[in-house]
Amino acid sequence: MPSWTHDLPAAPTHHGYDLRRTPPDRPLRAIATCDALNVCFTHYWGGRTRPCETPECEACNAMSPKRAHCYLSAMDPATRDHFLFECTATAALPFSDWIETYGTLRGCLFQASRPKRRRNAKVEILTKPADLSKISLPPAPDIAAAMSVIWQIPGSAIQHQDAINMIPAMTIASDKVDRMRINAADFEKATSYRRGNGTP
Ligand SMILES: [Zn+2]
Repeated sequence: MPSWTHDLPAAPTHHGYDLRRTPPDRPLRAIATCDALNVCFTHYWGGRTRPCETPECEACNAMSPKRAHCYLSAMDPATRDHFLFECTATAALPFSDWIETYGTLRGCLFQASRPKRRRNAKVEILTKPADLSKISLPPAPDIAAAMSVIWQIPGSAIQHQDAINMIPAMTIASDKVDRMRINAADFEKATSYRRGNGTP
């Protein structure tokens, strides 16, 4: 006998997140959903970007150079895709300026592009407040755990997450949030995108 209900089924649980970098040919636009930047040293090793696993790091032992990369979770306002975004620490400077101003990255609308339109050309990131009256942001994923899945780090190694969980969560007083909203409205009126640049 068919079984009917008035409710739509729950959305399938999301086990993995895509990792996106700035494409060469068009800007990537998204709204950050996490509060903070997550920075990890990586190597380009074995044909792909991998985390530095010092003190026992095969790539370090082979003198492979390492670079700081920044990771954040973001939602594409057009498609509602929720994904992880990667850029270099240099390119991410506008994000740290943003956090200094607003206290959290969540709600930051950004556009990442490569003005020279080449695959490894410098990335430019422009930021402005998102209009959150028209869009609701999903909760941020556990970025370190999601990256461990992408980097194919065995489950046992994800225990490192415990160390990250011990960092006190950022709390923002509601009056500060109201001030941020007012500032965001002024900011929207007074300026267009802020400018920043860096390497990919
Ligand atoms: Zn290393």
